Amino acid sequence: MKIIHAPSEMQQTALEERRQGRRIALVPTMGALHEGHLSLIRLARREADVVVVSLFVNPTQFGPGEDFSRYPRDPEQDRAASEQAGADILFCPPVEAIYPAGFSAVVDEESLTHRLEGEQRPGHFRGVATVVVKLFHLVQPDVAVFGQKDAQQLSLVRRLIRDLNFPIRLVAGPTIREPDGLARSSRNAYLRPEHRYQAPVLYQALKAAEALYQRGERNAQAIRQAVRQALTAAPDGVPDYVDVVDPDTFEPVERAAAGTLVVLAVRFGETRLLDNIVFDPAGAVSRPAGTDADPASGGPSRPVSRG
Ligand code: AMP
Repeated sequence: MKIIHAPSEMQQTALEERRQGRRIALVPTMGALHEGHLSLIRLARREADVVVVSLFVNPTQFGPGEDFSRYPRDPEQDRAASEQAGADILFCPPVEAIYPAGFSAVVDEESLTHRLEGEQRPGHFRGVATVVVKLFHLVQPDVAVFGQKDAQQLSLVRRLIRDLNFPIRLVAGPTIREPDGLARSSRNAYLRPEHRYQAPVLYQALKAAEALYQRGERNAQAIRQAVRQALTAAPDGVPDYVDVVDPDTFEPVERAAAGTLVVLAVRFGETRLLDNIVFDPAGAVSRPAGTDADPASGGPSRPVSRG
């Protein structure tokens, strides 16, 4: 595996690979790689000839007072794990190479990112959109692989690709979970033991929503209430939001349908956990505003490519 630090070298390498007719897949990460990230790298391996994993803790997507400085970093372990999972190139640029002095051009999405995570974390999605667009220019991918775990980010990337005409196919990987259902996340390491013990309530609440949906409940308000009720099983969990939304617009829906997302964010002490579930993703595939993958099954999942 080749390690590249300089953005210019990354871009030259990518252009050369493309000239040689090789297809590039990009897996953007902030490092501290866990099984969720590695599953995306393996997915990328099946999609392209050259797999580029970027490892960049992006300062512009952290708000003041957020965990940028204490975000877990383990470059040696990340290097070994990404190589093992099938990466060909590890792109780990220094912050000042991505944001040189005087950097002032940014990318804003003006609709779906104003809700939920965007509302809770002002500026977060501007930082994400800006770095994703920069990575697209530097890595020149044919395929970009993102996790369903961050559903709103996934929708943002789909919107960037569509609205800014990137010739990139978006592939979504299903959410990888701990045996007790907690979605894998670099931030799980922050959880105090008593909070870690309660944290599976997020997935239990989402499964409760799914069970309701499967029994025929379509009233989104009833589903929201059931999720909130299920979350009360964790005495220390403070919900930031619980919503039932359209996967493309992130607008709340009144009636749930195939492809509808249930999204939530819950705080345990200083740590915010995000999770989501897609209703009946199989039924949604034929729908234009469908889903990317089944994050809920945890079982064999068929990633659905989105252009
Ligand atoms: P991050 O390093 O947190 O920026 O995440 C990098 C990529 O990994 C994003 O596309 C995430 O959605 C994805 N990801 C994070 N956690 C998981 C998980 N548990 N399962 C699958 N993908 C994940």
